[in-house]
Amino acid sequence: MKVKVISILEDNYMYLVIEENGKKAIAVDPAVPHRLLDIVKREGVTLDAVLTTHHHWDHARGNENLAKEVPGIQIYGADDRIGALTHKVVHKQELKFGTLNVRCLFTPCHTSGHMCYFVWEDGCTDAPAIFTGDTLFVAGCGRFFEGTAQQMYKNLTEVLSTLPLETKVFCGHEYTVKNLKFALKVEPDNVKVKEMLAWAKARDDDDKPTVPSTLEDEFQYNPFLRLSEEAVQKFTGKTDPVEVLSILRAEKDKFKKPKERLPTPAMLAFQWALSMANSETLQGPTDRNMTKK
Ligand SMILES: [Zn+2]
Repeated sequence: MKVKVISILEDNYMYLVIEENGKKAIAVDPAVPHRLLDIVKREGVTLDAVLTTHHHWDHARGNENLAKEVPGIQIYGADDRIGALTHKVVHKQELKFGTLNVRCLFTPCHTSGHMCYFVWEDGCTDAPAIFTGDTLFVAGCGRFFEGTAQQMYKNLTEVLSTLPLETKVFCGHEYTVKNLKFALKVEPDNVKVKEMLAWAKARDDDDKPTVPSTLEDEFQYNPFLRLSEEAVQKFTGKTDPVEVLSILRAEKDKFKKPKERLPTPAMLAFQWALSMANSETLQGPTDRNMTKK
């Protein structure tokens, strides 16, 4: 099974999953349809379906256009707010596209209709993949916009953590560096966090994605999957795992990425020119200032 990782908008990912030996393909959160269709064409595959993780604009905005461009395309999701939805799916529902299999895993909290998709291929030895949208990120988890810590706890521990360890994690955003900086604040002595942060920064500098990780990796550095670790409990001052998760998410909401990159000389010159231009417009011509006096 081939997974094309396509970086779009500011920090989103959309994905194209293609059969290893066939021509069938499915897309996950294709928010920039023309880019997706270019890749579909280049790969010479047929796009059968769209899997939408949740209704937010940066994940679902492409559905209507795709429905127009690709007649008969099936659009899956678990929320009526998702545009051009043709098939509303439920927890544990299984779908099949050629040799590709999809199991829908309902994970309400970030939004009340959030669905993750577990994908594997018949007769293929590749590790399975989980498309986690804005529920689980590399080294982090999504915000609780429409749900509770109890729900996210269930999503993370009962629904996602019970998948095979080798499962590849493809999430909805590139937030890895910022997530790991927070993870380091939570667990300053976690060597895995430090190693992963150095690696993720290097990837970031090269403008390369940090996805996929694996579930096995996530258990080692993602604080949201390490709720019973002593350091994580100490950071939150709680021991009950739902309370630990609740405090962690609240702390992450407040966590700001420290300003790392100083402005370049060119940027400083540009800002200076801009401020001069602004002050001129605001002050007006000098002679008028003079007459005022
Ligand atoms: Zn979202």
